Amino acid sequence: MTPVIARTREELAAARARLRGTVAFVPTMGALHAGHRSLIRRARELGDAVVVSIFVNPLQFGPNEDLDRYPRTFDEDIAMCTAEGVDLVWAPTPEVMYPVTPQVRLSSGRMGTVVEGAARPGHFDGVLTVVMKLFHQVRPDVAVFGAKDAQQLALVRRMVTDLDVPVRIEAVPTVREPDGLALSSRNRYLSEAERATARYLSRALQTGVDRAVDGPLAVLDAARAVLEEAAKADPPLHLDYVVLVDPDTFEEVGRDHVGEAVLAVAGKVGTTHLIDNMPLRFGPRES
Ligand code: AMP
Repeated sequence: MTPVIARTREELAAARARLRGTVAFVPTMGALHAGHRSLIRRARELGDAVVVSIFVNPLQFGPNEDLDRYPRTFDEDIAMCTAEGVDLVWAPTPEVMYPVTPQVRLSSGRMGTVVEGAARPGHFDGVLTVVMKLFHQVRPDVAVFGAKDAQQLALVRRMVTDLDVPVRIEAVPTVREPDGLALSSRNRYLSEAERATARYLSRALQTGVDRAVDGPLAVLDAARAVLEEAAKADPPLHLDYVVLVDPDTFEEVGRDHVGEAVLAVAGKVGTTHLIDNMPLRFGPRES
């Protein structure tokens, strides 16, 4: 069965009123791939009804970013939603979502200004503002997010805690190509040569994670060594950052850190901005 497709608030309200039981929600910007499919499948397990939103949110794009060329593949997206048994697709236009430019917005605080937030000022404020609006519109019991966007996930969890949002947040591990490249809607921008360079991101992360027993400095050194090779590739990777951070705050961890961490990397290949991360754990060190 094809899902109900709602394009206005009225259509959404009518379709939402017909959903019964636990509602699980997957917010997306469309151009759906196997990473999104994994989130939808998790939502299917968690909810009696599944809602997917498809909305490319202008608020989270900077002036020199790819809002206008962001891939839009609505018919294929609906085909995937149909195959995965999605009940309702919420697909507002920017005019429906923002009838007037919003004046009151969410602030992502310090966590929104570090790591990816330092490279993309205002990005996470835009993300949280739209996620909160989507939560109010869809009224889900549980919402599913990908660990691929680890800082976004941490901020959404923090928003839910800080503002008492009555939605449970569920995370799904990053889905990768067989060669390690994290699936992303932006991968479609890559030429074959650029795609070969993009593989260095996950290779650097895996090389770093494999050194976890030797501590944070060894992890970062190992990842950096791979990224130095990537900078010499043709075309080269232009590194934005590689950091080892606390998964809840995205503050960088110290050289003696024990416990969970996230190794996060971002860079540009050609004109395409790519991010990736892997979780890791540091045990107590013997001295
Ligand atoms: P996007 O459409 O890029 O805004 O992503 C929508 C949701 O899918 C977010 O929660 C992402 O973290 C998640 N997502 C994107 N790529 C992947 C992936 N490769 N594996 C798992 N989740 C993903």
